[in-house]
Amino acid sequence: MENYEKGPTLGEGTFGRVFRAKDKRTGRLVAIKKIRMGKAKEGVNVTAIREIKFLKELQHKNVIELIDVFPHKRNLYLVYEYMTSDLEAIIKDKANIRLKSADIKAYMQAILEGLAACHRYWIMHRDVKPNNILLGPEGQVKLADFGAGRVFGSPNDRKFTTQVFARWYRAPELLFDSQVYSSAVDMWAAGCVFAELMLRRPWLPGNNDLEQLSLIFDALGTPTEEQWPGMKSLPTASQVIFKPIAAPTSVSLRQLFRCDADAIDLLQQFLCFDPSRRITAEQALKHEYFRNSPKPTSFGDLPKPTVPFGEQAGERGGDGAGMADTDPNGGENGKGGVTESFLEGIRRSSFPLFHTKTNKVFTTKLRAGAPRC
Ligand code: AMP
Repeated sequence: MENYEKGPTLGEGTFGRVFRAKDKRTGRLVAIKKIRMGKAKEGVNVTAIREIKFLKELQHKNVIELIDVFPHKRNLYLVYEYMTSDLEAIIKDKANIRLKSADIKAYMQAILEGLAACHRYWIMHRDVKPNNILLGPEGQVKLADFGAGRVFGSPNDRKFTTQVFARWYRAPELLFDSQVYSSAVDMWAAGCVFAELMLRRPWLPGNNDLEQLSLIFDALGTPTEEQWPGMKSLPTASQVIFKPIAAPTSVSLRQLFRCDADAIDLLQQFLCFDPSRRITAEQALKHEYFRNSPKPTSFGDLPKPTVPFGEQAGERGGDGAGMADTDPNGGENGKGGVTESFLEGIRRSSFPLFHTKTNKVFTTKLRAGAPRC
C-alpha cells in the first residue's frame, strides 16, 4: 500500500469498498478494490480469481485494465485504471443528458469491440449490464466486472450455471435453464443494453424468471418451433406453454424506439431467440448500422457524467442497492444471484400462459413494459 496515496471511496461492490488512490511513483489515478482473504483455508473468493485471471489475459481498449494485484495485511488489493462513471448513470440522467443516436452508436461500438475481444479469447462475460460498462475521464468505454466470467468452448466443460446476469439482461435459453450455452448469452444482454440506451429505461424489467420470459415474448412475439428449434427440449420449457403472440413489425419497433431501420434490424439480431443464429459481436460490428450515418460520436465528445463516482457514495451502493423498484436482480442477493423458482413464478403469475401440469389457463393480459410488484 505504501506506493499508493489513498483517496475517497468510489463505491461499494460485492467484496467491499473501492477507493480512489494516486500511484506515488507515477502520479496516475487508480481505483483500488480491497478483497478480504478470509481464513487461510478459505483462500481467495473464486469470483476474485476469475476477475484477475480474465483481466490479465484480456488487454483491450474496451476492457478495464487491471494494473496490479498485491496482498497487504490479510487483504488482497486489485488496482484498476480509474474510471469516472458508468453507462447506467448516463442512461438515468435524463434531466441533464441528451443521448443522440450517434452517441448510442459509439457506446454500442465500444461494448461490441470489448465483447468481441472477450469472445476471441473464449471468455463469456456473463454479467453485461449498464453499470458494468464503465466510462473514463476522456470518454473511454470499458467492460468491467469479470467476476462472473467463464471460459467456454471446451468439450470437457459443457455444463454451466444458469444463475448468471442480472435478470433483465438474461437470455431466454438461461431463463429456460439451459446449462449448455455460449457467448450468445452476452449478445442478448448487449441487445438489452442497446434497447435501454434508446428508451432511457430498462426495456424488459421482469420480477422473476417466468415474468421475464413473458415480457420477452410479449415484446418480441412467442417463438415458434421454426424460429427456435429445440426450445421445447430445454429443462423448464416443457412446464409451461406460452400463449402465441405475433412478433412486432419493424414499423412498430421503430415507433417504440424512435430510431432508424438499421438500428431495429441490429436490435432484432441481438434478440434472436435461437442462440445459434443470434448475431456475434464480430458480425454486429460489420452491420450496416455502423456503416451508415450518423457516424459514432468520438469518445472525447460523448456526454460527461454530471455526478462522478464517489460523489454519490452511499446512494448507489454498488449493484443497485437501495433501488428496490429498479433492481435488475429483483432485490436478490448478489449479481444475478438466487432467483425465485420457475414454478413459484407460475404460481404467482397472471400472464397469458398455460401451466401444463394443472391445465390451468392464465389469460390476464400483461401490461406492456410495466414492472409488477
Ligand atoms: P464492483 O465491485 O466492481 O461492483 O465496483 C463497485 C463500485 O466501485 C462501482 O459501482 C464503482 O462505483 C466503483 N468502481 C469499480 N471499479 C472502478 C474503477 N475502475 N474506477 C472507478 N470506480 C470504480
